[in-house]
Amino acid sequence: NLSDKLDKAFHILKGHGKITEVNVADTLKEVRRALLDADVNFKIAKDFTARVKDKAIGQDVLTTLQPGQLLVKLVKDELTELMGGDVAGVNLSGNPTVILMSGLQGSGKTTFSGKLANFLKTKKNKKPLLVACDIYRPAAINQLHVVGDQIGVEVYSEPENKNPVEIAQNAIKHAKANGFNVVIVDTAGRLAVDQEMMDEIARVHKAIQPQETLFVVDSMTGQDAVNTAKAFNDILNFDGVILTKLDGDTRGGAALSIKSIVNKPIKFVGTGEKMEAIDVFYPERMAERILGMGDVVSLVERAQEQFDEEEARKLQKKIAKNEFGFDDFLTQIQQVKKMGNMKDLVGMIPGASKAMKDVEIEDDAFKHIEAIIYSMTPGERSKPAIIDVKRKARIAKGSGTKVEQVNQLMKQFDQMSKMMKMMQGPGGKNLMKMMGG
Ligand code: GDP
Ligand code: MG
Repeated sequence: NLSDKLDKAFHILKGHGKITEVNVADTLKEVRRALLDADVNFKIAKDFTARVKDKAIGQDVLTTLQPGQLLVKLVKDELTELMGGDVAGVNLSGNPTVILMSGLQGSGKTTFSGKLANFLKTKKNKKPLLVACDIYRPAAINQLHVVGDQIGVEVYSEPENKNPVEIAQNAIKHAKANGFNVVIVDTAGRLAVDQEMMDEIARVHKAIQPQETLFVVDSMTGQDAVNTAKAFNDILNFDGVILTKLDGDTRGGAALSIKSIVNKPIKFVGTGEKMEAIDVFYPERMAERILGMGDVVSLVERAQEQFDEEEARKLQKKIAKNEFGFDDFLTQIQQVKKMGNMKDLVGMIPGASKAMKDVEIEDDAFKHIEAIIYSMTPGERSKPAIIDVKRKARIAKGSGTKVEQVNQLMKQFDQMSKMMKMMQGPGGKNLMKMMGG
């Protein structure tokens, strides 16, 4: 992947004391190749390396002791710049704010509509309304209703109406009459850029005059993403880009190219299928992630958000009173699971994504553990000490696991309880604070 390639590129510089025209050229050739491999547009990659080279050579680098470090910084700054520099927000003016989704079929419009509604509802205290304007497939309307139910957001649809302009306009009326302050209009896409689709979205756009028109693009489509972005931008002059499916090891090439081709900011990224898998796009963090430095800041933020403080406080009390049991263990697991896909999380830890590259991480690595705990009686869960050989056999049978697995879990639980008790001590305060306590 790109990080590995860049690693190799920087490796070339190691051992050289100074950046010179010669060694910088070698390194930047590798950087360019890495960018091209990540589906960055050729011209952009070429301009990019030329700019870095100018800066590297132009500076007083001949006296720099660590040219590798300097070049990493220059590449990172340049990557950040390329992806948009500053963080771009969503324009929430207008009452209601109207947000129009555009993009090809399968890019993730419907999923992202739900994520954005959920984000605005829970983080920005908004009352959003979702609108189903994908009139071609009945399943599409249902899909949006399922999403709406999941996040507790109303969905406006007119299954009999085949006119998306009318539906959108009626939805806005409905929003005004019922106190919704954001209207998110999900639209139909085609598998490729197509005149009819473009005409339709242009008509909807003209009729509802959205405050925000967002272009949703699947980051795995690489070079095509740039062409599609350009086609939609020519018609809609959209306000921002949503990069979806940026989970795990997805190549970041699209992020690098789109901004410079259409000159519109990337506003959010989608990092999984769950409604919580949405992140504000931070150009600098993305640059760091690409460079393999790990998106530590995001990781910490996400951890803090998900570890419910109240829960943590209760837990602390229980540990102090020696009442930590399997029910609490289960809560902990569920907290960790809420943080998202394990692969995403691993990808954010510096160095870990490389070390874990060949390790298959089950999305549901906790399935067995949960099954075992569910097979315990309430008494066993709160006083694990009573679990004897006979009980273990029953639990294994009930959970469809082996006695060894039950034993293993008991051991893990023991270790965790001990660790938690230790964290209660003077040195452990900070650790608990980190976990939201
Ligand atoms: P639409 O046709 O543009 O409305 O696309 P959908 O929202 O229906 O998404 C198409 C598929 O991509 C669905 O299976 C989604 O679950 C999946 N999907 C959407 N966003 C993401 C994402 O950020 N990560 C992953 N892994 N899958 C996604
Ligand atoms: Mg859809």
